Amino acid sequence: MQEFATIQAQDPDVYEIMAGERTRQRDGIELIPSENYTSPAVLEAMGSILTNKYSEGYPGKRYYGGQEYIDKIENLAKRRAKQLFGAEHVNVQPYSGSPANIAVFMALLEPGDTLMGMKLDQGGHLTHGLGVNFSGKYFNVASYGVRQDSGRIDMDEVRDIALAQRPKLIISGATAYPRQFDFEAFQSIADEVGAMTMADISHISGLVVGGVHPTPFPFTDIVTTTTHKTLRGPRSAIIMCKKQYGKAIDKAVFPGLQGGPHDHITAAKAVAFGEAMQPSFASYAAQIVSNARALAAELIKHGFDLVSGGTDNHLVLVDLTNKGIIGKDAEACLDKAGLTVNKNSVPFDTRSPFSPSGVRLGTPAATTRGMKETEMAHIARWISEAIDNQTDDTKLGAIHDEVRELCAGFPVPAI
Ligand SMILES: *Cc1c(COP(=O)(O)O)cnc(C)c1O
Repeated sequence: MQEFATIQAQDPDVYEIMAGERTRQRDGIELIPSENYTSPAVLEAMGSILTNKYSEGYPGKRYYGGQEYIDKIENLAKRRAKQLFGAEHVNVQPYSGSPANIAVFMALLEPGDTLMGMKLDQGGHLTHGLGVNFSGKYFNVASYGVRQDSGRIDMDEVRDIALAQRPKLIISGATAYPRQFDFEAFQSIADEVGAMTMADISHISGLVVGGVHPTPFPFTDIVTTTTHKTLRGPRSAIIMCKKQYGKAIDKAVFPGLQGGPHDHITAAKAVAFGEAMQPSFASYAAQIVSNARALAAELIKHGFDLVSGGTDNHLVLVDLTNKGIIGKDAEACLDKAGLTVNKNSVPFDTRSPFSPSGVRLGTPAATTRGMKETEMAHIARWISEAIDNQTDDTKLGAIHDEVRELCAGFPVPAI
């Protein structure tokens, strides 16, 4: 277990807070689809002395001395990412998913150019063209969503919008879409309108390398992904692309956007990629999807209304309207029951994004603990009971006791 012994001795204030979060992670079930538990090896790299180094530039072309080992770790991370995803070019320096996307736009677009992405309130990410985000402020935005009757992306509709708006870049990818992306169809639309393509596979990259979601390679021009979601690495991101875009992408990341790369995180990425290359990772990815399907089926039995009627990936999006509870209140009562979820808009939500009608649930973290279909049935039942007893703190506390008991049999790595 992570003892935090040095911090405890030196700084009790910080220790107490960290120990509280450790207990929360241990005794509750994490159902936020973008979260996961990293391995002890990834944590060790992140907490290592590699954080002491400065290394602006790229391997062999740095602006600081003493790069003998840092060059090696960055090259190793790049080599592994290329092999894992089948990418021609990789940049492993982006600090996180949002800066990775900014770097791509800097590399490929001029301010005022048109980019096309999925609407935030229908499942897209804020960096795909939301008005208050840099992507919506500096670029002209064309957006697509899902069909109201099916909750799914309609590629004919995407094509119509692309033909009418003539974007320079078409983005596929989402944060709250329970179905698969047809990257090949996006590419053929882009070819027709002369656009470049970017797939942001942040949520699903672990499923892609595990072989349970179609890969955007080799046709997509640029692929970005965070490394901390289903991929189960450190909190960070990478950009992959066809060779022809490599120079522009590298220039945009450094010196265009960032200074020194976080070398300890680069080491942690290399470790995580090494883990994702193991056969056990493919089983993990398959179990994430099986668990999400089981969770969806059980929730339907308890009368929940799921966007698109189910899931093909790691997440389910629940429209709570028929349950007479809003997302915020569901999130709060589930928290009291030891089940961590996040409130989320559902497509064509009649409520505001700050107080939406749904919640988003995901299985990557619980699957890392070793939970399977049986546990998903318990989780669905607890969610239903908690929502039916949303104002009864005694009942919510009793559910938390049951959750805690289950969790004791499924330890979190490194806790
Ligand atoms: C999580 C996510 C990001 C942003 O990642 P951060 O590391 O939080 O900046 C970008 N795009 C998509 C699709 C995501 O799911």
